[in-house]
Amino acid sequence: MNFSRDEVVTLLSDLVKIESVTPWLIESGAGERKQAEFLADWLSDTNLEVTLDEVADGRPNLLVRLRGNGTGPTLCINAHADTVGFANWSDRALTPKIEGDRMIGLGAADDKAGCVSALLAVRALAKQNIELSGDVLVACVIDEEGISIGTEHLVANHKIDYAIVIEPTGLPIAITEHQGFGWIDIIVHGKAAHGSAPDAGIDAIVHMAEVVKRLHELDEREWAPNPDPKNGRTVFHTGTIHGGTDYATYPNRVVLGIEIGSQPGETLDNRVSEIEQIFSDIKKDLPNFHGEVDVKLNRNPFVGAGYEPLLAAMDKAAITVIGKPMEPRGENSWTDAALLQEAGIPTLLVGPAGGNYHAEDEWVSIPEVVQMTEILYLTIVELLK
Ligand SMILES: [Zn+2]
Repeated sequence: MNFSRDEVVTLLSDLVKIESVTPWLIESGAGERKQAEFLADWLSDTNLEVTLDEVADGRPNLLVRLRGNGTGPTLCINAHADTVGFANWSDRALTPKIEGDRMIGLGAADDKAGCVSALLAVRALAKQNIELSGDVLVACVIDEEGISIGTEHLVANHKIDYAIVIEPTGLPIAITEHQGFGWIDIIVHGKAAHGSAPDAGIDAIVHMAEVVKRLHELDEREWAPNPDPKNGRTVFHTGTIHGGTDYATYPNRVVLGIEIGSQPGETLDNRVSEIEQIFSDIKKDLPNFHGEVDVKLNRNPFVGAGYEPLLAAMDKAAITVIGKPMEPRGENSWTDAALLQEAGIPTLLVGPAGGNYHAEDEWVSIPEVVQMTEILYLTIVELLK
């Protein structure tokens, strides 16, 4: 089955034009409803079962089911409908632009191309009336760029036997594992006092500076020199800092927000105990140091299992479309694949090549979106024959 560059470009352009910024990140973000409604309408001339499954107020997952004959497994193809914000390139982010083989626009790669490939493949199958053993469930989920309530809702409410998550990995890469991550607040307590009373005050900013320094020393000493062979260097960076009240007062509280990774075999608890060790070390030098850890979000690593039949079907499809099998690999950044696998669903993460994600002039390779669509089509036929 061949898909044309034109049909890919047309649908992807239509989606890029529809703002679907996750309101979890940007309060004024439009959310995913308008795009879901557009796609439901686009599918209205097929026999596909289309549902807007409301997950949060005005924010539905778009679910598109192609019924099999009930004897085979259900394959879910998951791509996210939301994007990050676009304040740095608001003059052009929602105006898709073609430059050679690339389409430039907000969400072109991350992850509207995934929705496009999955929907074009399933729509073609529906129109051809090809009998399949199991169902295909395309889920264009909400809030992946937020806290993934779309995929959480999906796995809690649907029976799924295999899943393909589409994110821009570049063909023929198939991600079979990746790091987990946490968002952690580190809170340092001082003691407020008049600015000219150094004996009465405890400067929380000075104490936090010590935490930041030692976190980076730990990174240099432990995490950086010991990357996971598949998933790379453990993610660590400082993200936000807030503290103090005014020029004239010793600051009594500082909050540092960090993002930090965990490797397969670890949990975020490994990182939390390393941070607590830093606290006790600091206390030896600064006896009135008082620190606390507050975990805001904890996502476990993705460790794929049981995906072999899916990978075999995809290999066969990839050989037909691009002349080589998929290449299993690890990755450092987190995706919704972890939530699907955690729910016991064998999952692979694949997708077309792109770049500048979460930045100006995000782009996707149009030929790879076409190839991804063809690989999905053939994978479905092979797995559910
Ligand atoms: Zn993404």
